Amino acid sequence: MLLANKKWTDDERYAALKLYFELEFGQFHARNKNVIQLAEILGRTPGSIAMKLGNFASLDPTLDRGGLKNVSAADRELMARFHNQPARVIDDIERAVDRVEYQISSDPTSFQADKNQVGFRDQEIGFDVSGRATTVMRVREERLNQGFFRRAVLSGYHFQCCVCRMKFVRLLEAAHIKPHHQDETYRLRPDNGLSLCRNHHKAFDEGYWTLGSGFSIELDPRLHKLGRHDQAINDLLIVHEGRQIEQPFRYLPSAEVIDWHRENTFAKNEPVLGKE
Ligand SMILES: [Zn+2]
Repeated sequence: MLLANKKWTDDERYAALKLYFELEFGQFHARNKNVIQLAEILGRTPGSIAMKLGNFASLDPTLDRGGLKNVSAADRELMARFHNQPARVIDDIERAVDRVEYQISSDPTSFQADKNQVGFRDQEIGFDVSGRATTVMRVREERLNQGFFRRAVLSGYHFQCCVCRMKFVRLLEAAHIKPHHQDETYRLRPDNGLSLCRNHHKAFDEGYWTLGSGFSIELDPRLHKLGRHDQAINDLLIVHEGRQIEQPFRYLPSAEVIDWHRENTFAKNEPVLGKE
């Protein structure tokens, strides 16, 4: 029997949080197939899952959504913990999902008994562009963490480059604004991420552009001179100057990491054409 008001266990809450970071804007509703699937797995109504996702959205610390009054203290605490210790929470999410799946696979009455039909975890692989063989060999934790960051960032930006809007997912990358070897805390937080095509990612890492006020695209001014000799630079970068990036519906880039990029990376490398 499905109980709409059944108390949420920690494992269920983690499974819902995982789904929250996988879905795009407009998918937090009871008719979404992933919502229905998780509801079946947890023995809950799709409506209760959708409500939980809405609660998480209202707790996004980077967006002012006015907040929902009936958000539980446990949801609030979980989102705050994710913000402060994302690696720990992602690890907890994966363990919780393992337990939830184990329960399903050991319950002969569950029609989800075949783990391969759950789907829920299969997406993990699909998001890894580095190839299946490498994925298998890689350390599990690293794979899960990086998969989480990529998925959470790309879905937040509707699977497109936030500069040129390119949607070819195999050419999209979840860029770190502040490199994570500089600061472990920001390795996994979506507010340190941008969804970028490979060219705009590399150009960002090289400091040829940064984010200005209002999330506008600010270019190294030296690019203008080069643009007179190379039309591709105009098409790739100069045409976007001053435009706002396409903003994510979840986790706006934090001012702190944008400032870091501006101070430490922006316009630090001289842009050159041809030979170095
Ligand atoms: Zn792009």
